[in-house]
Amino acid sequence: MKAALIFTAALLAAPAVWGQAANPETPLAALPYSPSLDLSSMDRSADPCADFYRYACGSWIKNNPIPPDQARWNVYSRLTNENQRFLWGILEQAARPSPSRNAVEAQIGDYFYACMDEASRERDGAAPLRPELDAIAALKSIRDVALFLAQTHATTFGNQILFGFDSGQDYADSSRVIAFVAAGGLGLPDRDYYVKTDAKSQEIRQKYLEHIETILKLLGEPAPQGKTDAAIVMAIETALANASLTRVDQRDPHKLFHPFDLAKLQGLTPSFPWRPYFAARQMNQVPRINVTEPAFFQELQAQLKVRNLEDWKTYLRWQVTHARASSLSSAFVTANFDFYNRYLRGVVAMPPLWKRCVQRVDRDLGEALGQVFVAKTFGADTKRRTVAMTKEIEAAMQSEIEQLPWMGSATKRRALEKLHAVANKIGYPDRWRDYSSIQVRRDDYFGNVERAVKFENQRQLAKIGKPLDRSEWQMTPPTVNAYYDAQMNDINFPAGVLQPPLYDPKIDDAPNYGNTGATIGHELTHGFDDEGRQFDAKGNLKDWWTMQDALEFSKRAACVSDQYSQYTVIDEIKINGKLTLGEDVADLGGTFLAYLAWKSATKNQNLQLADGLTPDQRFFIGMAQWACGDERPENKRMNAITNPHSPDEYRINGVVSNMPEFGKAFACRAGQPMVRAQQCRVW
Ligand SMILES: [Zn+2]
Repeated sequence: MKAALIFTAALLAAPAVWGQAANPETPLAALPYSPSLDLSSMDRSADPCADFYRYACGSWIKNNPIPPDQARWNVYSRLTNENQRFLWGILEQAARPSPSRNAVEAQIGDYFYACMDEASRERDGAAPLRPELDAIAALKSIRDVALFLAQTHATTFGNQILFGFDSGQDYADSSRVIAFVAAGGLGLPDRDYYVKTDAKSQEIRQKYLEHIETILKLLGEPAPQGKTDAAIVMAIETALANASLTRVDQRDPHKLFHPFDLAKLQGLTPSFPWRPYFAARQMNQVPRINVTEPAFFQELQAQLKVRNLEDWKTYLRWQVTHARASSLSSAFVTANFDFYNRYLRGVVAMPPLWKRCVQRVDRDLGEALGQVFVAKTFGADTKRRTVAMTKEIEAAMQSEIEQLPWMGSATKRRALEKLHAVANKIGYPDRWRDYSSIQVRRDDYFGNVERAVKFENQRQLAKIGKPLDRSEWQMTPPTVNAYYDAQMNDINFPAGVLQPPLYDPKIDDAPNYGNTGATIGHELTHGFDDEGRQFDAKGNLKDWWTMQDALEFSKRAACVSDQYSQYTVIDEIKINGKLTLGEDVADLGGTFLAYLAWKSATKNQNLQLADGLTPDQRFFIGMAQWACGDERPENKRMNAITNPHSPDEYRINGVVSNMPEFGKAFACRAGQPMVRAQQCRVW
């Protein structure tokens, strides 16, 4: 169970229109520097007490229009893009056959080379899919379907065709790794897309039907058949969607924890032969299985009863092609892009091929590429300083908990125990993953992807029944993001997020604490948000709160949820304050913690005015400037459904308007927009 700072939807993208762009991007030999407090990003004509986000970020937004290949563009995505251009240079170099390449360089270089070879993919068309399509055509029973799924799941990224099978920590005992069988099977980004009845949702479903038809046509299906088949796919997916939990429900870990044994799982879905499925995935022993959503599998059973085999073949033909589209020829890649990125997210142009290939190497061989990135960018000094800052934030949280007026001493003791048990992971893993068993060929991109994904899926399943590896990371080192994992009880900051303009070694403490300090505080607070607080110091789903304290917490969380639910995302759509609650609580708590830690770290310093700004003002501007940015209207609509984070402007204005420290720093008056009448405070 992870909670990330910003959420990057791994939507599949596709070929190059960028070539004609006015400013074609080039590889970067070094990462560019911009400070974590940038005066030129501000709009000083704006009143900080009326709209602080505009004051801190107005000029950044004006000067940084969303590039054609992006759905949103902010400080995080710009830095991500710079990292990718830097990695591009590394990969271009590594792709040149040379005796001086070491094994890691040869592997990532050849992977990149094969990905860049679009001509081969054009020649191959749908041919790489042929073995799977033939296998689908030859299915004769549901047992065959199960065996086919086992093979296909093993080589499919995301592992979600019809349902998901993976490993995960036991909610009852986080030291144990058990099997997870999870809901899946949808082609739209969320179950809500299938069940909502408004005009826009109906339009999206119509476009989705057309997209399925387009893909099936590329496989050679004649149009009338494609239409019938798309309707079958839609009917199956709609039934599964109706039985799937909402994203809000999925934030409740109790709703996702249903330990079954094999017999009980078999009883839930008598028509699906689980034993042969598990055996085909080399899992002969699965004594304990968390069936995350039993209602989903009940519906799956109902569908298996009423649908004939031909319907399942149709569904699988679509799902398998959908899953592999981004590794096929440009016709598939473009169709995929046109629906998922152009239509659903408003992206104007396909990202250039190099960018898609860098993303693919990062996804599939991330710790190989990451080693090279870390060696070139993340010095021991940055590591030492960011580790020290993390400890400062933790110390601030300790003193906050000790002084918390609404929490009793028994709960405080447990909260401190949990805080002290948090593991800090900074920069990169202690031990690099060994990918050497993956065969990478310069002339077989489709095969490379399958082999790399198979390696990863097998690696995940191999954990079942083994001792938990606490050193593992869920993000690669170049990633500009961070996360807290409630079952690991750890906070994780990849090297990519600890560089300017986020963590800035060249600048003083005020903006650094405001920016990176608040991010560290954000992740730490996740351990104590409405979701994270349900896990104990060891990462077990176990209530450690007195009833009274839990009640007091809920009251304060409701204040935040009510506040954010009033903000408009776009048009008639408001923030779903129950979906974003954990992130909103973390944003608020994180900023308080960073502020306190900064005050404590600088208590003996004589802080001075700089650029006409007080130290407190500079703290808050630094805090706001990680979030400068904008996104396309279509992307806002999608995020309102799928993203647990509030839009960037509310992540800033929603926080500062709750902080008396902010009002004081900018001499705001009661009644102004950035001074909420009833200020929320949880941590
Ligand atoms: Zn978060």
